[in-house]
Amino acid sequence: MAEQKNERYQDSQLYRIRHSAAHVMAQAVLEMFPEAKYTIGPPVENGFYYDFDLPEPLKEEDLDAIQKRMRQIIAGQHDFVKEVVPADEARKIFKDQPYKLELIDGLEQGGFDEYGEPLDEKPEISIYKQDDFVDLCRGPHVANTKEINPSAIKLMSVAGAYWRGDENNKMLTRIYGTAWQKPDELKEYLHMLEEAKKRDHRKLGKELEIFIYDDEVGPGLPLWLPNGGVMIDELEDLAKEMETKAGYVRVRTPHLTKEDLFIRSGHLPYYAESMYPPMELEGVRYYVKPMNCPMHHKIFGARPRSYRELPLRLAEYGTCYRYEKSGELFGLMRVRSMQMNDAHIYCAEEQFEQEFLGVIDLYKKYFDLFGIEKYVMRLSLHGKAGLGKKYVDNERLWLKTEDMVRRAMDNGGVPYVEVADEAAFYGPKIDVQIWSAIGREFTLATNQVDFAVPERFDLKFTNRDGQDEVPLCIHRAPLSTHERMIGFLIEHYAGAFPAWLAPEQVRVIPITDGQNEYAEDIAGQLKGAGLRASADLGSDRMNAKIRNAQLMKVPYMLVVGNNEMEAGTVSLRVRDGSQENDIPLSAFIARATDRIGSRSSEL
Ligand SMILES: [Zn+2]
Ligand SMILES: [Zn+2]
Repeated sequence: MAEQKNERYQDSQLYRIRHSAAHVMAQAVLEMFPEAKYTIGPPVENGFYYDFDLPEPLKEEDLDAIQKRMRQIIAGQHDFVKEVVPADEARKIFKDQPYKLELIDGLEQGGFDEYGEPLDEKPEISIYKQDDFVDLCRGPHVANTKEINPSAIKLMSVAGAYWRGDENNKMLTRIYGTAWQKPDELKEYLHMLEEAKKRDHRKLGKELEIFIYDDEVGPGLPLWLPNGGVMIDELEDLAKEMETKAGYVRVRTPHLTKEDLFIRSGHLPYYAESMYPPMELEGVRYYVKPMNCPMHHKIFGARPRSYRELPLRLAEYGTCYRYEKSGELFGLMRVRSMQMNDAHIYCAEEQFEQEFLGVIDLYKKYFDLFGIEKYVMRLSLHGKAGLGKKYVDNERLWLKTEDMVRRAMDNGGVPYVEVADEAAFYGPKIDVQIWSAIGREFTLATNQVDFAVPERFDLKFTNRDGQDEVPLCIHRAPLSTHERMIGFLIEHYAGAFPAWLAPEQVRVIPITDGQNEYAEDIAGQLKGAGLRASADLGSDRMNAKIRNAQLMKVPYMLVVGNNEMEAGTVSLRVRDGSQENDIPLSAFIARATDRIGSRSSEL
């Protein structure tokens, strides 16, 4: 069932362990390379890293030596001791460490933390010591190295990283490590990584012929192969069916618009960096759209609206383009063109709760369908310091809207955690994190409340009292984008999709050439019954054909030999290993169409 995380990662013991392990690693590295310059080393998801400016490149076997030394340091049972120091004293301590000196300048001026990340308040400067190692650090740490279990840490890899992520700066050496509370957790994590490698959607996506990238098309612009096309159609059918039941109507909007629209929406100039550059024609600038909202707003605003028409739920699988940095592109998870399960719900304030819960309900139905058992909804709120900068400058409306969302979630019994200072520009948002079958985490989609942009678009409706009122807008995309969703589903199912989603549902395999015609006839009947089927009439031997179908993870194989041909039957081999010999074709069709029609996870 859904699990509620009560504690923020930054406040957890695991975070302190990982942060402390990073310091211990830095100590070990500096002992090994006394001329090394150390920079920053924060905890990250599942572990930690530290970036070093080393006199020579690090070798693979160095990691073992560093790890060995880390174990010794841990066994020394050293306290982590914090000390607040004035900037000048900090400069003395780190006089041979140019990166630390740069960070101290940043801390002293305020606005940056010890990792160089922007910060609202001006921090105090503090150092942490363990053994004879000292680091510029705000903490938090464990009290003593004995809280780090030496059998639950592992150094994972070495990579290059630019100082402050800027390619004009020097390339540093980044060492990644992982740390857990118990050895069993480390073992489980390493197993998960191994399993994740096998399920990697980039690898399986290619093997199962779902999508490709092509240099001449461009990075981040996936080409969907026929098998991917089938999955997209199935997901769109699913969305249409669910959304129609939930009272949505469908619209279609172009990929291009004039610049004016995005100036009106507020995306330009602020969001320009994430958009493809404009093209100009007859003195007018056009952009490919990074999102569909402004066009849906135009549809809402196309004529006067009455309260009787609300809620108006406009849905579209819209294709958007965003200019993600090339270094950030990743398989189907970070792309530059994306087809979004988008919709905008325009409603009056008193309809908000019901509409909002309706959206959450849709999420839950999809989670049920895909067997997603663990998920967390994160409610992202505004930060006071960001009003007028990161956020629309209207505190009263922020507080009111956040409260509405909170109440809706509470009343609907939806588990969630609150996160300060991570909202969208125009309102609070819900981020949905899900975990795949092997426990890998994905951020799937966001669901946002917009109390600001409808006004910018001059959207209104006539309320019961005959007065103009600005509607609220809910942006939602429970099935995320096709790219992200299919990337997730490939890894979640390891490519063994339920029959309704499988690109090829049935493969007919003749035992010898003698049954080719019969196999073809069977495939024809299956297609006639609406199944995605083919007959393998190639020159391979039967066993090779069976293996090929298994590699493609086809849910059903029908093997036909002389006996089957004479009796007019088929022998069924199911992907899960079960088998039924000599059954009438009609019995198989009944079984398959029943499972597929109900989108069952059973075969
Ligand atoms: Zn630190
Ligand atoms: Zn939107």
